[in-house]
Amino acid sequence: MERTRVAIVGGGPAGYVAARRLGQLGVEAVLIERAQLGGTCLNEGCIPTKALYAATSPLGHRETFARMGISLSPEVDVDRLRAWRAEIVAGLRGGVAKLLAKAGVEVLSGEASLVGPGRLRVRTPSGEEGISAEAVVLATGSSPIALPGLPFDGERVWSSSDALLLPRIPERLVVIGGGVIGLELGTVYRRLGSAVVVVEALDRLLPGVGVSRRGEALLRRALTAQGIELRLGARAEGLTADGVTIRTAQGREELSADAILVAVGRRPRLDGLGLEAVGAKGERGFVVTDAAFAAAPGVYAIGDVRGGWLLAHKASHEGLLLADRLAAELTSSSPSAEVSEEAVPQAIFTQPEVALVGIPVDEAAARGLAVGRFPLAALGRAWAQGETEGHFQIVADGEGRLVGAEIVGPHASDLIAEAALAISARLTAHDLARAVHAHPTFPEGLWEAALALLGRPLHSG
Ligand code: NAD
Repeated sequence: MERTRVAIVGGGPAGYVAARRLGQLGVEAVLIERAQLGGTCLNEGCIPTKALYAATSPLGHRETFARMGISLSPEVDVDRLRAWRAEIVAGLRGGVAKLLAKAGVEVLSGEASLVGPGRLRVRTPSGEEGISAEAVVLATGSSPIALPGLPFDGERVWSSSDALLLPRIPERLVVIGGGVIGLELGTVYRRLGSAVVVVEALDRLLPGVGVSRRGEALLRRALTAQGIELRLGARAEGLTADGVTIRTAQGREELSADAILVAVGRRPRLDGLGLEAVGAKGERGFVVTDAAFAAAPGVYAIGDVRGGWLLAHKASHEGLLLADRLAAELTSSSPSAEVSEEAVPQAIFTQPEVALVGIPVDEAAARGLAVGRFPLAALGRAWAQGETEGHFQIVADGEGRLVGAEIVGPHASDLIAEAALAISARLTAHDLARAVHAHPTFPEGLWEAALALLGRPLHSG
């Protein structure tokens, strides 16, 4: 039986980040991964999605350029695109392995399960190994939820992991779920030429995200203009010879499809993990932890498996926090400062992009909070770039402190960082308004929203 101080199960953004930090802090750690380092995010999530989003960007902006007098007629070499995506993923994965090696972390290839407090059994390609550790960290992530009538087969019915392998460009793609994954991948396949229909059970897009009604309506208009058909209030039921059946208020209907992408959420991976061996519990499938990530004495859970926002950056922050606390406990030093949960941003890579942080704008009025708005159509840089659909919205509390922001428009995923920093640093709208922002740039939109909130709008209102 191998002995170590911390054993981490799962090498995704939660697990590998925790392992690297522990290694840097001089705490012996073993990272056990049954598939590939980097987890869902790097191998079949964030990174390949963004690689395809970036690669297909010229296709998504043809009409904008045409208005400027520049005609683009890009040709798509799907084999090359697939290979490029694979190169990006492999390159970054190699980087993670190097970072772990540099921090002195041992990586063990295999599938781990808890057999008792501080004890793991690991099935490796060459047999079975036992590991005992002072602390065990569960970071096993999540996997796509399948619908009973539409089991994944990788051929006709795709999970997001299948879709990201770019098996083919279907003539007609039906996307089940108008959430984050459905809309991001729907955008990519539409750009590649598929006729895309998004089927969403609720009456709005991105229902779980907290985007404002105004922002959602804007996105809906933009997606429709790109030729994506949106079927809201429609629930997918099952597979037919030619496609999929949906149920709406009007009754049952059949949609034909060459491929169906099911993107109706993700569930935590707990199967075979042996939670019962240590007395840890699951609730709605997620590992129950206390505020210090403890699921049972000496057993911790971080990332998607613990629930909350299923976001890579939230998982990594939990990894860093836990690593610092464990290192402090195991080495009797003091842990680093907390990361504030309310400043976890979300970034959704549609066209336009949608990004949010903190208190949703539509909740502001009910809570008696102030909102400042600035439309993209009033921003010089947006005009120069031919993309004026969108807005900046910020929410401030009674003392003027920034507590929320929503950005819809180009680069929203990058722009939200300033608002997240302002929230975590407890800055006020006045602080934002005082900071000089370069002209003409998109970050000026946040500055203008702060000016609007303070009642002295410059280029709006
Ligand atoms: P989601 O919860 O965002 O969306 C799923 C959607 O499917 C919901 O809108 C739901 O109403 C709908 N739905 C469920 N059953 C249905 C049915 N039978 N017919 C029609 N619609 C149905 O889930 P997701 O898009 O799969 O994403 C999973 C998780 O991964 C989310 O928590 C998301 O935040 C996270 N994620 C985030 C990003 C990002 O931030 N850029 C990217 C990818 C994934």
